[in-house]
Amino acid sequence: MCTVGGPVDIDFDEGLKPKDYKCKDCGGSFSSLGKNIRCPTCGSDNCIAA
Ligand SMILES: [Zn+2]
Repeated sequence: MCTVGGPVDIDFDEGLKPKDYKCKDCGGSFSSLGKNIRCPTCGSDNCIAA
């Protein structure tokens, strides 16, 4: 099946949406993308989804 000229629906994966994280080291909150999450404040990767 081939659709030409119509609008294309793009499904965004979870990983493409900014998610809120919280740094367990400095307690800062931030938004980030992807799997390799690092705190922008202290550079720690010890972060959890908020
Ligand atoms: Zn931090």
